[in-house]
Parts: sequence; C-alpha cells; structure tokens
Amino acid sequence: MAKTPAERQRQRRERLKQSGTTRRDWVLEPEELRMLGEICIQRRPGRTPYSENEVIGLLIRKNYKELQKSLANTCQRCGQALPVSECIFDGENSCLLTTVRLKLAIKA
Ligand SMILES: [Zn+2]
Repeated sequence: MAKTPAERQRQRRERLKQSGTTRRDWVLEPEELRMLGEICIQRRPGRTPYSENEVIGLLIRKNYKELQKSLANTCQRCGQALPVSECIFDGENSCLLTTVRLKLAIKA
C-alpha cells in the first residue's frame, strides 16, 4: 500500500534524526535572507545553486576551522593556553586574552 505524504515525511524526519541531524529555527532579518539567497547563487556560477542548508553548514565548518587556528595560542604573559575566559592580566596589551578577544569577535 502506498504511503501518504504525511507518512513519508514522518519517516524522513525519523531517518534524519537517527543520522544525528537536528533542525534549528533561526530568525533572519530580510536583508540577511536576501544575502543568503545571493550567496547560494553567486558561489556556484553556472551551476545548481547551493541550498540554504548547504551554505549554512559550510559556513559553520569554515568558521570553525578558522576559529580553531586562532585558538591554537598560548599567552606569553601568563602561560595559559586558549581558550581561556579569565586572566589576571586581562586588559593589558601583553595578555593574549586582551588581544585575541578583538580578533575572535565576528565582525560584520
Ligand atoms: Zn594572559
């Protein structure tokens, strides 16, 4: 017997859940949504555009790699290895936490 669309959708969700994927519900501003659509198309000229899901996933992976490189540092002042959230020298230019904080922030 043929499955109903609802049954197929439920099975699809179950398969995705079992493979470890999760669904997220984000809020995007209209401008961000427009930019996402353009990224999907403009990053694959002459080819099938990326899906929004692919772009988000790839950007997360790309940013994570860059972040891990930035975190592979040790403070010359106190000797702590990143990631650290506290240092008694925080605020001094010689403290890695002070300088890296500016580097790690996502700038628009
Ligand atoms: Zn330090």
